[in-house]
Amino acid sequence: MDENQITIIGGGLSGLIAAYLLAKEGKSVLVIEKKEYPFHRVCGEYVSNEVRDFLIQEDLFPSSFEPAEINTFRLSAVNGALAEIPLDLGGFGISRYNLDYFLYKKCLNVGVKFLLKTQASTIGFKAAQNVFEVNTNEGDLLTAPIVLAAYGKRSRIDKYLDRGFLNQRSPYVGIKYHINIAHEENMVALHNYNGGYLGINKIENGAFNLCYLGSREQLKAAGNIQSMEEQYLFKNPHIKEIYSRAEFLWEKPEVINEISFATKSPVENQLLMIGDAAGMITPLCGNGMAIAIHTGKLAADAILKHKKLAMIQKAYAKAWNQYFSSRLRTGRAVQKLFGAPFVSNLAVNVIKKSPYLAKKLILQTHGQPIK
Ligand SMILES: Cc1cc2nc3c(=O)[nH]c(=O)nc-3n(C[C@H](O)[C@H](O)[C@H](O)COP(=O)(O)OP(=O)(O)OC[C@H]3O[C@@H](n4cnc5c(N)ncnc54)[C@H](O)[C@@H]3O)c2cc1C
Repeated sequence: MDENQITIIGGGLSGLIAAYLLAKEGKSVLVIEKKEYPFHRVCGEYVSNEVRDFLIQEDLFPSSFEPAEINTFRLSAVNGALAEIPLDLGGFGISRYNLDYFLYKKCLNVGVKFLLKTQASTIGFKAAQNVFEVNTNEGDLLTAPIVLAAYGKRSRIDKYLDRGFLNQRSPYVGIKYHINIAHEENMVALHNYNGGYLGINKIENGAFNLCYLGSREQLKAAGNIQSMEEQYLFKNPHIKEIYSRAEFLWEKPEVINEISFATKSPVENQLLMIGDAAGMITPLCGNGMAIAIHTGKLAADAILKHKKLAMIQKAYAKAWNQYFSSRLRTGRAVQKLFGAPFVSNLAVNVIKKSPYLAKKLILQTHGQPIK
C-alpha cells in the first residue's frame, strides 16, 4: 500500500476534478466510488459557463459530445405567466452519464486508481500517527495522509460522522427524465408549480433533460409519480404541454429524496469536504456542478501548495468561505421564492419589469469564471 496515497471518497464531479488535478501533478490518488461508470444521476445537467475556460485549459471540456449551448432563461409562474431574459454568462448542457464517464477516463489517463462498486463506511483520524483510516463495505482498511470527502449531498458516512444536518428531514424529491421534444435549443426553462419547479434544457445528441424538485408530501399523497405529475405539476399549463409533446426515452425516471440545502462546513472531522458534501446550492441556481468543480480545484490547489494537514485545511476553508458562503446563503433565500403562487408570479414580474434587477439576482448566486 502507498502510504502517501490521497484518498477521495466519491467519484462525482468534485472528486473526479480533484483526483485529476492531483494525479496530473504526480500525486498518488485513490478514488472510492460506490457505483460503476457510466451511470445516470438526478441532475438538471445545465453547467454554468463559470467553469468552461477552466475545463478547456485542463483539456477536460467534453467538446466531442457537442454539448448544447445555453444563453436564454425562461421562467413561468405557478399561474403560467411567462418571462424571458438573456443569460449573460450562460452555460452548456450535457448528461452526467457522459460527463462523469468522460472525466473518469481522463483520471485513468493520469494514473488515478479507482475502487468501484465500493462504499467507504467509516473514517477515523489517528492524531498520534497523523493518518486517516478508511474502512469500506468490501472489507478494505485503507490509510491515507489526506482524505477528501466528495460523496455528495448525503451519504451513510454522514451518519457515521454524526453530521448535524441529518437531524432535519428534507421535504424534497428530485426526479429526472431524458426526452425528445421540439423546444428552444439554447434555452433553460424553469416552470413553477404549487409545490416545486421543473427545469428543461437541451443536452447532447438532440435529447433534452427534464428534471424537477418536487414535494415528498405530494408524492406521498398522490401515491405514485405519474399521479403526482397529473395532480400537481400539470396545473402549470406549460408543464402539461411539455409532457403532452415529449417522447420519454426511459421507462422509469431517476429519483432521489433527502435533498438538503442546510449549512455545512468545508472542513469537518479533519476532512476536506468538497462539492455538495460541503454545502449544496439550490438546483434552481443551476450551478451546483460548477461549485463542485471549483471546490475540487480549490482542494487540489491547497494540497499542492502546503505540506502540513493543518495548513491545507486552513487554506481550503479560507478559499471556500471566500467563494461560496454568501452564494449558498443567497441560494437558500432564492429557493424560498419558488414553488409558491404569489412569489413565483412576483419573480416573473421582476424579470419582465426590471431585467437589470433579475440579472443582479442571478449574478449573486453565480461566481466569476474560475481560472
Ligand atoms: C434535482 C436536482 C437538479 C440539479 N440540477 C443541476 C443543474 O442543472 N446544474 C447544476 O450545476 N447542478 C445541478 N444540481 C446539483 C448538482 O447535481 C450537484 O451540486 C453536483 O452533482 C455535486 O457534485 P458532487 O461531486 O458534490 O457530488 P455527486 O456528483 O453527487 O457525487 C458524489 C458521488 O459519491 C458517491 N458516494 C456517495 N457515498 C459514497 C460512499 N460512502 N463511498 C463511496 N462513494 C460514495 C456517489 O455514488 C456519487 O457518485 C442539481 C441537483 C438536484 C438534486
